Amino acid sequence: MILSRITKALKDQNWLAVAIEFIIVMAGVVIGFQVTDWRSNLDARAGEAELLARLHTDIENVSSDRWDWAADRAGNRARLISASATLFGDRGDDLTAAECNAISQSHVFNSPSLGIPILTELVSTGELDLIRSRPVREAITQHFLSNGWSAEIDTAINHEVFNLSARHPQHFSFDYPDNPDGWNPIFDGSVRCDTEGMRSDARLLNELADNISKSIYFMRAVLGGPNESFRALHDAVDAELGIEHEETPE
Ligand SMILES: [Zn+2]
Repeated sequence: MILSRITKALKDQNWLAVAIEFIIVMAGVVIGFQVTDWRSNLDARAGEAELLARLHTDIENVSSDRWDWAADRAGNRARLISASATLFGDRGDDLTAAECNAISQSHVFNSPSLGIPILTELVSTGELDLIRSRPVREAITQHFLSNGWSAEIDTAINHEVFNLSARHPQHFSFDYPDNPDGWNPIFDGSVRCDTEGMRSDARLLNELADNISKSIYFMRAVLGGPNESFRALHDAVDAELGIEHEETPE
């Protein structure tokens, strides 16, 4: 239709008509591009909203084991410091059952995962760019960085493990319980310590000192750093989605 009108205008040498038809064609092309662009922006925003909602669900689904374990490890470190007053310091009394229990598990440095499935998926498919919110992107980067640092420290800490009850059996014994279902001797308080023997065993004391030092790095870098960046990411996603929690989110 337009083509026949242009052909006729050309034949008639009606340059004004040619120019008008040309402008109409160009305007159509420009509008077409803009509509496509607007639609793809709209699609991207809808896609991003869906991803943020999935991210929030994944964040909320991270097991509470992680937070319980962090609290448990903080308690264990406090008992190791208390035991040190007896073993390294001049407090003359015997180790308490709780302090002995803490020593028997002083080599345990592991941590429940803080993995966020949707982020792993987006990284593996190269689609992390679909999340465009700047605060969320920054929080994700920070979380990746602290997880990377956490993994490095975790590897270093567990490179050499001083399991004290296995390495110094003469100072430890385990009470066999009346009901052994679920017996967990290293953790459940079954262990008994020979305080006097430990106090005069330099190798055991030095290995315990090593475990106590490691426990700081474990709590700060392995558990604390990622826990903090995870919470910051949760806050950023909440803010983006307008979610308010009654209680402080984990
Ligand atoms: Zn939330």
